[in-house]
Amino acid sequence: MLYYKEFQYLYDYIKNNKYLMPIAAGCYVNNQFIITSNDFHKHAEEILIEEYSPKTLYITLEPCPSCFFKCIQFNVQKIYFGSYNTEYGSCGGKFIMSKYINNNIEYTGGFYANIFSEMLKMYFQNKRL
Ligand SMILES: [Zn+2]
Repeated sequence: MLYYKEFQYLYDYIKNNKYLMPIAAGCYVNNQFIITSNDFHKHAEEILIEEYSPKTLYITLEPCPSCFFKCIQFNVQKIYFGSYNTEYGSCGGKFIMSKYINNNIEYTGGFYANIFSEMLKMYFQNKRL
């Protein structure tokens, strides 16, 4: 069991949808926790932001710069994410976008980083077989 229930929900979602890429984002909408994952065109958090404009986002992977800009545009206030993205991360994993553009976003990363990065690694390893 993960201590932070939102990350437990995201973890369960990934475990129960093995055919999807193991990246998930969630937010509360009327006290219900809604979860999406990446689709062919959009990142999980991007889909949630456009549809629900949440104030707080939970993501298993650090958002990319494009999603970070979308967060600013839609006035997201808080981002909690799992593993750092050393290739495309915008919150310290690769870039620190908040240095370059005015925003009020608070973010905290590293929630169960090992678990979520391992899931991604396994997914891509299996794809290659
Ligand atoms: Zn993105």
